[in-house]
Amino acid sequence: MQRIKIPQRRFKDDDLIDFAIVGVGSAGGVLLQRLARAGFTAVGFEAGPFWDTERDWVSDEAGSHKLYWNDLRITGGEHPLALGANNSGKGVGGGSVHWAAFVPRFHPSDFEVYTRDGVGADWPITYKEIEPYYDLLEQEIPVAGPAWYPWGKPHGHPYAPHPMGGVGDTLIAGCTKLGIPVSAGGPVAILSASHGDRPHCIYRGFCIQGCKVGAKASTLVTHVPDALKNGAEIRDCCMVARVSMAKDGRTDGIVYFDAEGKEHFQRARVVIVCGYALETPRLLLNSACPGQERGLANSSGTLGKYLMAQAGNVILGRFENLIRMYKAPPAHALTEEFYETDPKRDFARGFAVQTVGPLPIAFAKQMMAAKGAWGWGMRREMMDYNHWSSLGLLGEILPWEDNRIELADGRDGRHDARDRFGLPVAQVTFSLKDNDKKMIEFGKNKVMEIMWAAGAVEVVQESRYAHLVGACRMSKTPDAGVCDKFGRTWDVPNLFVMDGSVMPTQGSANPGLTIQALAARTADYLISQKEAILSNSANGRRDMSEPPCRRSLAPPGTFTRGIPHLR
Ligand SMILES: Cc1cc2nc3c(=O)[nH]c(=O)nc-3n(C[C@H](O)[C@H](O)[C@H](O)COP(=O)(O)OP(=O)(O)OC[C@H]3O[C@@H](n4cnc5c(N)ncnc54)[C@H](O)[C@@H]3O)c2cc1C
Ligand code: SF4
Repeated sequence: MQRIKIPQRRFKDDDLIDFAIVGVGSAGGVLLQRLARAGFTAVGFEAGPFWDTERDWVSDEAGSHKLYWNDLRITGGEHPLALGANNSGKGVGGGSVHWAAFVPRFHPSDFEVYTRDGVGADWPITYKEIEPYYDLLEQEIPVAGPAWYPWGKPHGHPYAPHPMGGVGDTLIAGCTKLGIPVSAGGPVAILSASHGDRPHCIYRGFCIQGCKVGAKASTLVTHVPDALKNGAEIRDCCMVARVSMAKDGRTDGIVYFDAEGKEHFQRARVVIVCGYALETPRLLLNSACPGQERGLANSSGTLGKYLMAQAGNVILGRFENLIRMYKAPPAHALTEEFYETDPKRDFARGFAVQTVGPLPIAFAKQMMAAKGAWGWGMRREMMDYNHWSSLGLLGEILPWEDNRIELADGRDGRHDARDRFGLPVAQVTFSLKDNDKKMIEFGKNKVMEIMWAAGAVEVVQESRYAHLVGACRMSKTPDAGVCDKFGRTWDVPNLFVMDGSVMPTQGSANPGLTIQALAARTADYLISQKEAILSNSANGRRDMSEPPCRRSLAPPGTFTRGIPHLR
């Protein structure tokens, strides 16, 4: 139904393009579309393939592992994060190809956590600055959900909510019994009615496997086609190895390896790194050069630090009646009733509770972790798959300096690990602190209480983490972060970072919508600033005024369907 990969404009390595965008994922896809539509020359460099959704994707759990960044990464610390399939994507669309598309907004409090609660950090922007972009992106991708969403700053959604699956019914039953308000049927960037050339959801539950149907939003289907129509190029299977620096302290382009492993240099006026919270700091660390020996844009010493993951414990409950977890998008109902700091609890900040709905392979792993199921015991659990429901905790772990990404370049005398191009891979260290542990304990027990209240006859849980962000955080001043509030690095005036890595804190909301909203805002800033950034006509001075939100740059068809948007 959709023609995604259309003939593209092709640039040469020695063409001086306006923008080189590293990574065409959640943020990179939006930036590429905006900048191309505004008339700039822009090329997206993507380490993974340009997916043909008909040919490459399958409605099969095991067959979809290729969607992930499965290359080697090193993990460590007291609570090591599982890397690989649990975090980022590789291929055009990035993580938005395999995400569950659950898209709650951050709350106003998320942007001033330090001022309000004395923990974490404040963002250099407030909710007010991102709000027009939440409104806009919710229409572009578009989002189905309740017409009145009560948490954070109350708002509505452009498309009607989805019907409940069995897991959603469980969350509603448990919450209702305990008097906890719950949102049913979204917010989720999955079509509850057709939109342009995209059909509505058919509830087969293969969302995390890529959604062959096209009902689930990914930048591959929402923004990339419009980027190509407007003259952007996507160079797929091209791994960027280094951001190149000229003698004047500005970047002059990027060094990358093509699919055959041949090295190239692409000239560019501006480089924007959108490679995900692990690969972006890795690339900047790998781009260390004379004068910036600790990594590019790292005069603050914060590059790679303050990495965050959300607590993602999965609570599984067995019911006498059939639940059939697979028959719905996995995430389609939630409560944010425990999101904010509550002085009655012994920890700062909070958590959300969401439906999860794993398919059988993921369920088997959870049974192994939660119950030690194996062999015949595992077979017995698997025969019962249709009787299980699963709810997820999504908890705010605070940003800590020593949760970090370094290069596995052998400097610590332990790990010297490189990819096929000889580039040191990311080495991740992650440990929970007291506040995080208390939040997880409280949150986990609350979700179990909801599961019991819903009528479960057995409840077990698996500890895990989700959604890595941070490690190149934005800050008000150059000493506190890697980039300013538009993602422009403090040290290199024509180098930007724009993806989940710029987040100073992460709230208890899934990060994808915020990442795309931030990217659209940065595109508006770049359009407003044009020559000042492209050719340094402002001589390095920063105009930090807020750009106008350019709704006219939305992909075609954005404003044609849906209910009136409540503001
Ligand atoms: C199973 C799963 C479910 C999820 N569900 C949700 C959800 O429901 N809601 C939500 O909000 N979030 C969800 N997420 C998280 C979400 O997918 C990510 O937060 C988001 O996609 C991150 O966006 P990004 O722009 O930072 O990076 P990405 O979208 O990961 O894009 C980065 C891109 O850069 C490319 N790249 C990296 N380095 C290089 C390089 N050196 N050269 C060239 N290319 C490079 C990568 O291949 C990738 O395509 C989920 C994640 C997982 C794993
Ligand atoms: S349940 Fe809906 S969104 Fe998920 S894969 Fe099926 S059609 Fe796509």
